[in-house]
Amino acid sequence: MTRRPAALCLALLLCAAAALPAVSADVPTPESVLGFSVGEDRKLADWTQIVGYFQKLAAASPRVKVEDVGPTTEGNPFLVVTITSEANMARLEEIRRANLRLADPRTLSEDEARGLIDTGKAIVALNHGIHSTEVGASQTSMQTAYALATGQDADTLDILNKTVILMLPSHNPDGTQKVVEWYRRSLGTPWEGGQIPFLYHKYTGHDNNRDWYMFTQVETQLTVKHLYDRWRPQVVHDLHQMGARAARIFAPPYVDPWEPNVDPALIEAVNGIGSHIGACLTSEAKKGVVIHALYDAWTPARAYPHTHGGVRILTECASAKMATPIEVGFKDLEPGIGYDARQASWNFPAPWPGGTWRLRDIVDYQLSATRAVLEHAARNRAYWLRTFYEVNRRAAARSEPYAFIVPAAQKDPLATAKLLWVMRTGGVEVHRVRAEFKAGDRTYPPDSHVILMAQPFSAFAKALLERQRYPDLRQWPGGPPQRPYDVTAHTLPLLMGVDVVRADAPFVAALERLDAVPIARGSIEGGRGRFFALGHKNAELVALGRLLRAGVPVRWATAAFLDRGLNFRPGTLLVPENARARLEPMTRELGFVATPVNAAPPSLLLRKPRVGVYQSYVPSMDEGWTRFVFDKQVGVDYETLHDKDVRTGGLREHFDAIVLPDQSRRAMVGGNPPGSMPPEYVGGLGKEGVQGLKSFVEEGGTLVALDSASEMPIAEFALPVTNVLAGFSREARGDEDEGDQGAKEFYCPGAILAAQVEGMSTSPLAHGLEATTPIWFEGSPAFDTKAGTVVARYPPENPLLSGWLLGDKYLRGKGALVEMPLGTGRVVLFGFRPQYRAQSWATYVPLLNALYTSAVTPLAR
Ligand SMILES: [Zn+2]
Repeated sequence: MTRRPAALCLALLLCAAAALPAVSADVPTPESVLGFSVGEDRKLADWTQIVGYFQKLAAASPRVKVEDVGPTTEGNPFLVVTITSEANMARLEEIRRANLRLADPRTLSEDEARGLIDTGKAIVALNHGIHSTEVGASQTSMQTAYALATGQDADTLDILNKTVILMLPSHNPDGTQKVVEWYRRSLGTPWEGGQIPFLYHKYTGHDNNRDWYMFTQVETQLTVKHLYDRWRPQVVHDLHQMGARAARIFAPPYVDPWEPNVDPALIEAVNGIGSHIGACLTSEAKKGVVIHALYDAWTPARAYPHTHGGVRILTECASAKMATPIEVGFKDLEPGIGYDARQASWNFPAPWPGGTWRLRDIVDYQLSATRAVLEHAARNRAYWLRTFYEVNRRAAARSEPYAFIVPAAQKDPLATAKLLWVMRTGGVEVHRVRAEFKAGDRTYPPDSHVILMAQPFSAFAKALLERQRYPDLRQWPGGPPQRPYDVTAHTLPLLMGVDVVRADAPFVAALERLDAVPIARGSIEGGRGRFFALGHKNAELVALGRLLRAGVPVRWATAAFLDRGLNFRPGTLLVPENARARLEPMTRELGFVATPVNAAPPSLLLRKPRVGVYQSYVPSMDEGWTRFVFDKQVGVDYETLHDKDVRTGGLREHFDAIVLPDQSRRAMVGGNPPGSMPPEYVGGLGKEGVQGLKSFVEEGGTLVALDSASEMPIAEFALPVTNVLAGFSREARGDEDEGDQGAKEFYCPGAILAAQVEGMSTSPLAHGLEATTPIWFEGSPAFDTKAGTVVARYPPENPLLSGWLLGDKYLRGKGALVEMPLGTGRVVLFGFRPQYRAQSWATYVPLLNALYTSAVTPLAR
């Protein structure tokens, strides 16, 4: 049998001497279990096979322990694999507890800390396969584990003795399984190794790696609970792949900007270990290694460790076509932020000359990168523990600001409870205040909450509770903006519509530390009436969905009214008295108040809307997030509509509202090009689909277009609306095309802006919104219209609340949310993302309003 290159590479790495490692005959190689070697052309292990391998490995090796902490979103096992020396394995719990003590330096003397650092182990997490089409990492994980389980050389033994390694062979097992199945199906076809027509995570697709502060997804929660909370790793290696025309591998340092709350010692720690990876790979004569390029470290959505005393080391390998080799010519290589793949430079000293690139190359580069990470952690064990301790100590001594206060009286108690849950899940201590207190010039009632900044993970809380000021970075002085790797804002109080007050000066209050934060008390108030009046925020709209599902005829007051001396706002929901038994537990569970009233103002009589959500075979992450918000957060029933369903027509018979999630007109109408996929996934809505949607609206339906999806109805239905930003590129391009004003004049790649709600008396879509509402803008449209109703509009001044916006003058006075009649129906155009990554609770209300007003009977007074 010929010697496999991957095994050869490992053998060289693992054996300082020429002697072969004394491998226990019982420990199975990946090949012996899979029937092919890791990295072989056109061979991928699916999740079932990977789980099978790790179980056999753990059964045979005393250095390896496997736990299934799942299930995942779609019911698969979720594995956490622990790898360390036999001696460490025997006292694992003791090592874990010692590490957690360093995580909270408030309880340690300097002597105790020194003792823990002297005897502790560096905790290293290896995260594979969060992005399932980046197929290399989950394959590599088996080879890495095998090497560690069997290595007898001094370097491997040193790693095993000085570190505890926690490995996720796949962060997204559902996707690992589905993508490998799809790949196998594509073998031998013209579309072998090409695009897939579905999101590789049920709800998030690629955005599963943008969930590291909101913790919405099962896999994020499992990782935080079983890995981050339980172990507090100092080093996390997160293995990814990038495009085929880039460098062969990226390792940190990251380019600016960094999230400003990250401790400088962690930034330098990232620089150090990242440069070590680059040095090791280049020392092995691997070509095309770039550091300090492409990726920044701004958003905490991708980097949980940076606010928890550790580092997140991203590596990105160039991709093949999954496991199918590709040819890349030197001239096909491209420049990117901070380097040019065709040009040697200090941070890219050995360009790759081009040629064949295959899965085996990816596996080899990843094995070396992980090896470099583990060596660095082992050799610098005390440095990593000392840095972890010092960073946590500095955070626990933070005095600016003193605290953030979450006042008890909130307009949206459900979103408030959610925000405090995010804090607790992120390891932040939250205190309830037992009695009224004063901070600054404001007095706060009991049951307010306080987040003190003098605590180990205050960087996490502070980053998410304050506003972001993103630096005005340019590709060259006076040139186009430099694209941020992700978005530029993460201010939860704005996104969620929660009042949070920064307290700079210390104050005295009766604090009680909470393990879990309960929701505000809800109830049915005393007295009797024909109806129970409910407000119009998230909690009440969740209750509305449940009541309609149960057939309760809820009314929606379209005007303000007075009852027994109390004023009720337009949008008040009126639940019949006889639904009391159903309503009462919801008030307690969701934290809202129901008030008995007798008034019968002009209203809409509601029934459960029949909702369709369009799902293109050009997958849209926004579509996934829409389903997640409907399924898991607000409770909206819907049917998924594919191109052929829409093309068939007759939509109005079956639907009251159809949602078009964020997607370009071209992707929706054109779909996947012929030859790129199996025929059933090719082509989009086409002319018939567009006509089907138009007829649906003309016959009385509500079409809800989210963000860039608004392009399609504006153009195809010839609506009297213009997107005033249509001429600006969404991308920060340096080469401005003809007719494209580029991004120099206007650029907003993901920020929180203010919109003024002005349709309160003319459109029920505005009900429940505050006069000024923060909205999520991400390369979005903005509307000019002479017809229809502008429900929300940009203010006459700069609307930026958090993040980065260039060219605010183009937005001033323009429409952000427009309701446009067509036939007997309407098109609702959202110039923003009302359900952005299941975070923007502040704007779920107008989206739900659009759905709930699609199935109504008007009632006079
Ligand atoms: Zn990735």
